[in-house]
Amino acid sequence: MTTLIDNTKPRKEAAEGIEQSQAVASSPSTPQSLYSKRVKLYPKLAHGFYRNIKWFALFTLLGIYYITPWIRWDRGLDQPSQAVLVDFENARFYFFFIEIWPQEVYYITGLLILAALGLFLATSLFGRVWCGYACPQTIWTDLFIQVEKFFEGDRNARMKLDKAPWSLKKVYKKSAKHITWVIIAALTGGAWILYFHDAPTIARNFLSGHAPMTSYVFAALLTFTTYWLAGHMREQVCTYMCPWPRIQAALIDEDALNVTYRYDRGEPRGAHKKGTSWEGRGDCIDCRQCVVVCPVGIDIRNGLQLECIGCALCIDACDEVMVKVDRPKGLIAYDTDANVQRRMQGKKSRYNLIRPRTVTYAVLVVAVGGIMLYSLLNRVTLDMNILRDRQPNYVSLSDGGVRNGYTLKILNKSSAPRRLALSADTLPSPVITVAGQRYDGEIILTAPADDTLDFKIYLSESEILTLDQKTDFEFTLVDKDTGETTTAHAIFISGGPK
Ligand code: SF4
Ligand code: SF4
Repeated sequence: MTTLIDNTKPRKEAAEGIEQSQAVASSPSTPQSLYSKRVKLYPKLAHGFYRNIKWFALFTLLGIYYITPWIRWDRGLDQPSQAVLVDFENARFYFFFIEIWPQEVYYITGLLILAALGLFLATSLFGRVWCGYACPQTIWTDLFIQVEKFFEGDRNARMKLDKAPWSLKKVYKKSAKHITWVIIAALTGGAWILYFHDAPTIARNFLSGHAPMTSYVFAALLTFTTYWLAGHMREQVCTYMCPWPRIQAALIDEDALNVTYRYDRGEPRGAHKKGTSWEGRGDCIDCRQCVVVCPVGIDIRNGLQLECIGCALCIDACDEVMVKVDRPKGLIAYDTDANVQRRMQGKKSRYNLIRPRTVTYAVLVVAVGGIMLYSLLNRVTLDMNILRDRQPNYVSLSDGGVRNGYTLKILNKSSAPRRLALSADTLPSPVITVAGQRYDGEIILTAPADDTLDFKIYLSESEILTLDQKTDFEFTLVDKDTGETTTAHAIFISGGPK
């Protein structure tokens, strides 16, 4: 585990470009409030390799989110043609060629476990890459900041605009920004409901006012939360609301690659005059460009901090500065605490990706992924459940035999109807009758495609003297066309209390 510095205190200094440590002065006689008023941040746009990766992540992930519900997938007649669909009405989850029934909710559990283990592995290797590049809060906040920049300009222009008195120009800029935010938020909320209904149909019904009330409620809720969290709350969500920053401290160690200020190279820091020597000083010229681009308003030079989302924009900002002052790039870079310590002791850097914790997470990811893949590939598409009648427990017949009643539920998970032969195995002379139907010879039940069907079954047994009061046996169903077989354990009661 590595120690994180908790800087959850006012960051006015970040907003105004003043050193953090100088900003919060406390007097022993003044009682300190536990509440800190938020100071608005004005992150400057960074340029460079990591900003480009963030652009790529932003457009790819937003594209996936908005486009996925419109992808069609042919599953045959009377089946939904949407590739990804959470069908609450029929209790199904469709993901391309996979169809999950409520009885198979363990696949969803497995997927969540796999996602958690993947996140643990990525964090133990590369720090908060999820937060920096892929978390929805990061993605939408990034998008909203770009919209803000489009209408109000970059950091300095935005700060100036906020300080300026209200004018027509200011009203126009602020209104245009908020209207665009609301449109994006509404599209986000609107896209969410497409995952729960046939997208073209619900979109038509939604716009014409004929969609279910729940669709309007969820769309409104998602619109509001997107607008509020990405437009106004921003870094506060990551710092105060999300549990992940607290958990990640347990997942990373001094060998994890994090966005790191190379203290060994940067210090002692200070302003540098062009043409003067770099001897006896560090490469950091204290320009604070790494601070002004930071979307959470911290100074990476203070070490690994709880608020840092690992977006790496400070790397881009510092690299630009290093190029200008003709020093090597990488004063801020993906590096490890252990390497900083090694270099300060005159040793060489060593990257240690294969560690007990990374190996453990990798093995678990492979194991859980393998089990899930195997069970998906060998997924049974025929299943049955048996429920025995308890009132009465059994019925004595006039010929001396005994009859038990059962409810048989057949689950046909395939996309074709099935003809299924039903038998009761291991009982000496079972006679099965199905309520409401006559069968001569073999009992063939018809199960519709992708559906469940209940049958009322009566099982009579004449040779009860050979049986215990409670006899275990099995019902067997055999698909007459494919031969696929399923069995279900049952009990036959032939004596005792009714
Ligand atoms: S951008 Fe680089 S040089 Fe400038 S203050 Fe930050 S670490 Fe120092
Ligand atoms: S310190 Fe750097 S990596 Fe961390 S949030 Fe700020 S800009 Fe991103």
